[in-house]
Amino acid sequence: MSNCAIVGINWGDEGKGRMVDLIASDYDIVCRYQGGNNAGHTIVNEYGKFALHLIPSGICLPGVVNVLGNGVVIDLESLCGEIETLQKAGVSVTPENFKISERATIVFPYHRALDGLEEARLKDKKYGSTLRGIAPVYSDKYQKKTIMMGELLYPKYLEKRLASILEWKNLTIQNVYGAEAYKLEDMLAWCQEFGSKLAPYICDTSKYLYEAEKAGKNIMFEAQLGALRDIDFGIYPYTSASTTLAAYAPIGSGVPQLKLDESIGIMKAYSSCVGEGPFTCEMFGDEAHALREAGGEYGAATGRPRRVGGFDVVASRYGAMMQGCTCIALTKLDVMSYMDKIPVCVAYELDGKRIENFPGNIEELERAKPIYEYVEGFKCDISGCRKPEDLPKAALDYVKFIEKAVGCPIKYVSVSAEREGCIEMF
Ligand code: GDP
Ligand code: MG
Repeated sequence: MSNCAIVGINWGDEGKGRMVDLIASDYDIVCRYQGGNNAGHTIVNEYGKFALHLIPSGICLPGVVNVLGNGVVIDLESLCGEIETLQKAGVSVTPENFKISERATIVFPYHRALDGLEEARLKDKKYGSTLRGIAPVYSDKYQKKTIMMGELLYPKYLEKRLASILEWKNLTIQNVYGAEAYKLEDMLAWCQEFGSKLAPYICDTSKYLYEAEKAGKNIMFEAQLGALRDIDFGIYPYTSASTTLAAYAPIGSGVPQLKLDESIGIMKAYSSCVGEGPFTCEMFGDEAHALREAGGEYGAATGRPRRVGGFDVVASRYGAMMQGCTCIALTKLDVMSYMDKIPVCVAYELDGKRIENFPGNIEELERAKPIYEYVEGFKCDISGCRKPEDLPKAALDYVKFIEKAVGCPIKYVSVSAEREGCIEMF
């Protein structure tokens, strides 16, 4: 019996979904424990290609139960759409293999709207939100003014609570943003339409996971985004509104008493970032264009072109530390094959000094400049490699260079988006 967290070391989009889809066949349960449908976890397997937003990436694996924990925020409409898309592609989604915590939080249409209204107000100072209502709903949760999934099952209770919440929420919507108030009957109808479809999946997932763990089942916790977007330890305020760290997995899943056996950090062979904020290794112009095209760096959730750059040792070592990584999966190594020399940012320069520690002070991070070393490129297609010895020496050298610099063993090297395109290093 063992459990593990699959977490992002960088800014997100490292290929977490792809690794869960590969490794989760060794597990009985996959549980998402934070974030919402702002996630885009791409998996490519026998059913096709999907960008999963809320449903855990173990959904295509027979016998694996997929859970949305209490720490997750759920847009009912979006989740219904996701279930439908999967079912149409022949993937089984039933109350047997998919369960939703009665304590998970509902994202309402007004949360989505508030996200857009606030970004519009901020104009060029905007955060680059995915506009899924994530920050508004998490702030409401901590104001104790949200609805939990389980409340959908009791319409009278729901109506009473929603009426009082909406009265408060409309004060902001109307008086701060000058937008139109949301009507209780519309919100109740929305809950009825989509909530009734989701009702069969709602249960006490804490009890389910606790008992499963006691019975010796293997549980995988799938995180969204990466360490650098964590609300407490990320590049604040350019973070997400939730905790993206492995340490939160037991709490956000509903089994706070559980101790993690493993934390597998997913790390990209180069850097990419969606949204605003300091991004020390950022490339621009033709150089950025070449990497963005090679890596297909367009948001899975939003379609936005992602910012890209060379591998950042300083940020990744920090990310791996905060995630408590026991090993790493390095993804997208194949993307580097076009480069003659691969740039690796080994340190930052700040106020004329070389620093190797990721600045916790964002003012300093904004001024930090990258110091690069260049590793020999491998200049060949490695997407068919399946064993360490299949890799050309230069590619192996790059992996070893990064492994030593980050200070954590690289157990997996992913060389293509397809499930089987991965090398187990030891
Ligand atoms: P996630 O949010 O961490 O699950 O990652 P995303 O799915 O947003 O972004 C990763 C992208 O890279 C997706 O389009 C994947 O299909 C793709 N991908 C994952 N691993 C590899 C890899 O090793 N090589 C290549 N070329 N693409 C990969
Ligand atoms: Mg993604």
